[in-house]
Amino acid sequence: MRIYVGGHLVKNVTLYHRDVEAVTRDRVPGILLACHDNPATGGHFGRNKTYKKIKARYWWKGMKTEIEEYIRNCDNCFEHKPKLLTDQPELQMLASTWITVRVTTTALF
Ligand SMILES: [Zn+2]
Repeated sequence: MRIYVGGHLVKNVTLYHRDVEAVTRDRVPGILLACHDNPATGGHFGRNKTYKKIKARYWWKGMKTEIEEYIRNCDNCFEHKPKLLTDQPELQMLASTWITVRVTTTALF
């Protein structure tokens, strides 16, 4: 990380946004990987849980949208998401087919 203060390069500086570490763009992929993909520290949790977890330690601009986008594109999570009902051909057919039910009243008495 290169930080310039008044034109001078400052070394070994950790920036903070409120109480959490403000990270530079180059560290974002590593953080997402560690907090979402890593089986020990991530575990493919949903976007809210992952966001809360990252938010507790790090901050960068637009992080929430980026985390949501990242999880939406996660292959592992995609496989475990429930399939949409419209993907099932039987249900589509049922919705577009009229079914006539004829009741013969005499049969009831
Ligand atoms: Zn995932």
